Amino acid sequence: SEQVLELEDLVMHFGPVRAVDGITLSIGRGQVVALVGESGSGKSTVGRCVVRLLEPTSGTVKLHGNDITKLKRRALRPHRRDVAIVFQDPAASLDPRLTVGSIVGEPLRLLGLAKDKMDRERKVADSLQTVGLRQELAHRYPHELSGGQRQRVSIARALAASPSLLVADEPTSALDVSVQASVLNLLADLQRDLGFACLFITHDLSAVEYLADEVAVMYLGQLVEHGPRDQIFTAPKHPYTQALLSAAPVPDPERQRGRTRVVLGGDIPSAVAPPPGCRFHTRCPVAIALCKTDVPPLREVAGRRVACHLVGEDGSGPDVRAVPTR
Ligand code: SF4
Ligand code: MG
Repeated sequence: SEQVLELEDLVMHFGPVRAVDGITLSIGRGQVVALVGESGSGKSTVGRCVVRLLEPTSGTVKLHGNDITKLKRRALRPHRRDVAIVFQDPAASLDPRLTVGSIVGEPLRLLGLAKDKMDRERKVADSLQTVGLRQELAHRYPHELSGGQRQRVSIARALAASPSLLVADEPTSALDVSVQASVLNLLADLQRDLGFACLFITHDLSAVEYLADEVAVMYLGQLVEHGPRDQIFTAPKHPYTQALLSAAPVPDPERQRGRTRVVLGGDIPSAVAPPPGCRFHTRCPVAIALCKTDVPPLREVAGRRVACHLVGEDGSGPDVRAVPTR
C-alpha cells in the first residue's frame, strides 16, 4: 500500500466518554498531516490508537496496509518499528533512572537493531548528532538536561529505529516559548531529510502552517474538515476551522483583511453527552434549526472534506470571520 497509515471509522470510548467517534484518515509515504483541535477534541487519543498504546473500541488501524487494530503484544512486535511517538512532556516520558544513551538505545535493543553494544553506541551517537545534541550527553540523566534538550532526546529515541511514521503529540507545547521554534524547526528538518510520514497533533494552527501537507480539524471526537494545507488556510469552509484560524497569528496580513477574530462562547462540551445534530451547534455563530437535529455528513466539497449543512456543493458558505456590517 502507498498509504503508511489508514484509519477507518476509528472509535475509542472510555466507558461513557466518547473520546474518538469515527475518524477516517490516511497518511501517505512521507506526508505530514496535522491533526488540530482544542484540548478535549480527542486528537491525542487518536495518536495513542495509531501507536497502539490503546486498543480501539472499533474501527481499523492499518500500517502499510496491515491491520494492527486488534493485535496483541507479540503480534504487534513486527510493526513496532514502523511507528513511533513523541509526547508533549519530555520530563514525564523519559525514564529518570536511565542515561540518555540508554534511552535512545532502548528501541534498538528491544527491536534487535544493533549487532552488539558497540554498534548500538555508535548508532546512539549518530542519533544524538542528528537531533543536534553533543555525544557527551549520552552519559547524562534526563534531569541534567534542559527541557529543549530532553525533547531532542525524545525525538532521537523515536527516530532511532527509522520509523516510517512519527506521531508527534504537541511536541513543543510543554517547552519554554524561547525553544519551541527550534524544536519545531528540528522536526521539520528531520522530516524533510529522513522522509518519514508524520501525524502532527497540535492545538495551534499557526504552528503547522509550514510543516503540514494536509490539515485535519477535530471537534468532539470527529473530523469537521480535512484537506490540503493551502485550501484549509486560504479558504476554510467549516465555521469551527474559520474560528480557529481567526485566533491564530498569520504571517500574511492580506489574509486577515476584512476579517475579525472569532471568540467561541463556552468550552468544548462534554464527550459523555455530545450535542445532537452537529456537535458544534452549541457554539456555532451561524447555526440554524437543522443543525440541532441533523448530523452533517463529512462530504467532499471544494477540494477537501467538510461536515457542515451550510456549505454548498460549490463550496459556497458562511465565513464567520467576516466583519459584520452595521
Ligand atoms: Fe454550524 Fe450548522 Fe455548520 Fe454545524 S452544521 S458548523 S452548527 S452551520
Ligand atoms: Mg492532548
